[in-house]
Amino acid sequence: MQEIQRALREVCDTLEEGVALLAVSKTHPAEYIQEAYEAGQRDFAENKVQELQTKVEVLPKDIRWHFIGHLQTNKVKYIVPYIHLIHTVDSMRLLQAISKEVVKFNAANKTDRVVDVLLEVHVAQEETKTGLGLEELDTLLQEWVKAPLEGIRIRGLMAMASNTDDMVQVEGEFEKMNQLKQDIKKRYFAGEDSFDQLSMGMSGDYQLAQKHGSTMVRVGSRIFGARYYAQ
Ligand SMILES: *Cc1c(COP(=O)(O)O)cnc(C)c1O
Repeated sequence: MQEIQRALREVCDTLEEGVALLAVSKTHPAEYIQEAYEAGQRDFAENKVQELQTKVEVLPKDIRWHFIGHLQTNKVKYIVPYIHLIHTVDSMRLLQAISKEVVKFNAANKTDRVVDVLLEVHVAQEETKTGLGLEELDTLLQEWVKAPLEGIRIRGLMAMASNTDDMVQVEGEFEKMNQLKQDIKKRYFAGEDSFDQLSMGMSGDYQLAQKHGSTMVRVGSRIFGARYYAQ
């Protein structure tokens, strides 16, 4: 357990000014999260709604929960009440589903909650990686600026680099995202200070990501160790 706190400290020591650390706790038990929490970590990321729900119930209320997995529209309602940031929005349909649930939540609770989201961009070489292509991103944003949806604030972009040892390739992708974020900001969010986030970088490449404008790195195995998936 002390290993988690030691690893966390090591990662924190290598973070650049202004870069936030998200501890990716997917597949790991709540005790691991508690350990990191006691060392001062407050931002945690999960990729399955069911698993997230279970952890939210037993862990401290001031944790900021980030969602980084594929989000099904029918599961949105479970996380809307508490989620801090959804990193993986890749369609107008999902934006509409989130908006609808936020509006419903606010009506029921007499609140004016706004859910922050990032748009996930496909920048890696692999076909399998999720996210919006550049044209899809443009189409979505053109629709958005004409009619922004209630209860949602688009805070920036998210990306996963190619899964490769070729660090030149990875670095090129990070820089592409850095440029894209600035370009999108200029074209669609010029007057909005809240469009300021770029979520990229994982255990193997976060040091490179933060050299290319990342504002949030998502680090899992480097803090919590290897993940074991049930068969
Ligand atoms: C699992 C995951 C991470 C963390 O990966 P590590 O290599 O363990 O640091 C980061 N981002 C996303 C989207 C993930 O699914």
